[in-house]
Amino acid sequence: MHSLLKFITCGSVDDGKSTLIGHMLYDAKLIFADQKKALELDSKVGSNDGGIDYSLLLDGLMAEREQGITIDVAYRYFTSDRRSFIVADTPGHEEYTRNMAVGASFADLAVILVDASKGVLVQTRRHSRICALMGIRHVVYAVNKMDLVDYDEGTFENIRVEINKMTAEYDFSTRYLIPVSATAGDNITKLSERMPWYHGKTLLAYLEEIDVTDNTAQDGFVLPVQRVSRPNREYRGFQGQIEVGEIAVGDDITVLPSGNVSKVKSIYNMMDKTDAAFADQAVSIELEDEIDVSRGCVFVKDVDLQVGKMFTARILWMDDTKLVEGKNYYLKIGTNTVPAVVINIKYKMDVNTGDKLKTERLFKNEIAVCNIACSDPIVYDKFSEHKDLGCFILIDRITNMTSACGVIEHSLRREGNLTWHEMDITRKLRAKQKGQTPKTIWMTGLSGAGKSTLINELEKRLFAQGKHTMVLDGDNVRMGLNKNLGFKEVDRIENIRRVSEVAKLMNDAGLIVLTSFISPFAQDRASAREVIGNENFIEIYVATSLEECEKRDVKGLYKKARSGQLPNFSGISSPYEPPKNPEITIDTAGQTVEESVDYLLKELTKWGC
Ligand code: ADP
Repeated sequence: MHSLLKFITCGSVDDGKSTLIGHMLYDAKLIFADQKKALELDSKVGSNDGGIDYSLLLDGLMAEREQGITIDVAYRYFTSDRRSFIVADTPGHEEYTRNMAVGASFADLAVILVDASKGVLVQTRRHSRICALMGIRHVVYAVNKMDLVDYDEGTFENIRVEINKMTAEYDFSTRYLIPVSATAGDNITKLSERMPWYHGKTLLAYLEEIDVTDNTAQDGFVLPVQRVSRPNREYRGFQGQIEVGEIAVGDDITVLPSGNVSKVKSIYNMMDKTDAAFADQAVSIELEDEIDVSRGCVFVKDVDLQVGKMFTARILWMDDTKLVEGKNYYLKIGTNTVPAVVINIKYKMDVNTGDKLKTERLFKNEIAVCNIACSDPIVYDKFSEHKDLGCFILIDRITNMTSACGVIEHSLRREGNLTWHEMDITRKLRAKQKGQTPKTIWMTGLSGAGKSTLINELEKRLFAQGKHTMVLDGDNVRMGLNKNLGFKEVDRIENIRRVSEVAKLMNDAGLIVLTSFISPFAQDRASAREVIGNENFIEIYVATSLEECEKRDVKGLYKKARSGQLPNFSGISSPYEPPKNPEITIDTAGQTVEESVDYLLKELTKWGC
């Protein structure tokens, strides 16, 4: 059987990616006859002097894409006499970097195009860096458009020196340069007579011969659990694809992150019962013991994987909105998805020079090293050790878009040195002593909606009932704990994070916490809910309308905001995102404070307060 090479082509618009691959397919007779005829016809009306425009071969795919189904990366399959290929063709549009990263994550080799007439550009550096980041070990630089520089050896040699300098820091196992002309077909499938000074291989020959076998193959057995299947009461199977190694009935298995151990009772490969299964097979495994396993757990045998919440990673930011330290995302790694926060950006890379630059935010297409904390322990490994459990994506929680892809460099030692001390007097005991259920009552709403007024009255009523309470008020907190924070986005996120952590500690102390923060962004409130715990969190949306709040204008802030003196004022010069599913909603317009509080107390009892 032919061996398979998965590769990606990288280049900017007009670098000649499509022409290059198109030419290779054409010369090697890898296209259908009628397709060839169509191509000749098309090219006659095209602009290529009646010659064949090879880019039409691949660009034909674009039209299909534009029919409506969005396929960001198109995969082409072709076979030569010596090898089979899959090439990821990534459209060179605005979203190029994103598509390229997706393509690169699948490929063993990258063909990076360099325009001989322009030399090594920022894009060339960016493409090389992304390939290195995504773990590509083999790179071919196709120095294209040699016809435009009269097939000059000196030009090619200068580019070689630049590329050698650039790639010195990357961990590429092989790197090869070929001078080509994609339109004229030099050195694509046949050695060019116009470049007798070149003694290397043609692109096709090189791609047919290169050995990309990964010698770092891992020992042991790894299977990330994708699904728990329970077709009947007798059978509970854990389904997934074996990533590393093999497994047999009777083998011991450790389930991570819990560390629970069991034995393999049965294995199904598709519908067939079998005694053993191997890497790349999709299987269903039944265990001897009833232990807790869910999607995202990993079955292992004789292998060391990390289990933890914090690590350092190298990421490529792909979102139109910038990354801000402290913002909450979903992190998807293997079959697991958990809430996660980029705690801090250690530095971003200057793609040109490789310099490390200090920053608090990251814009589209930038690469950075940062520390990430997940809300729950995940199973992972260094990317250099284990490709599949070493790379992840970050997903925006509101838009559901992939915001970044990243690879794990190492776990954070900080985490290893911290241990959560379990005390004898627990939260439950403290709460019991106070005779109440600790909750955090989180009031959100526009300025002037009535949050502070209601919190104040509510606390008095709870206090009178003998409840133990504490109020966290936005302005008050900013005068003490958070007095070093301003109103920029990073500060706003940190403000809510600290308040949430404090509220949680107070709940641990057995107290009912009442908070009054405008907290205009759904994401911040979601983070607070996460920290405090969904079961302890009661969100009250004080839904008094903007008109009513502005009419009240207790602090004169609306007047100021309207005259442009308050740049980030929620509801006027900055958005307020109303909660979608608050536990309680109240509109205070036309109600006395007492009526409002009566209503809230009644509602709160329904939520166990
Ligand atoms: P916030 O804390 O949301 O900025 P405040 O509590 O400071 O709002 O201001 C709300 C204003 O609305 C106060 O002047 C309050 O007396 C008035 N108000 C009128 N009716 C009500 C009501 N039913 N509940 C709360 N406040 C009310």
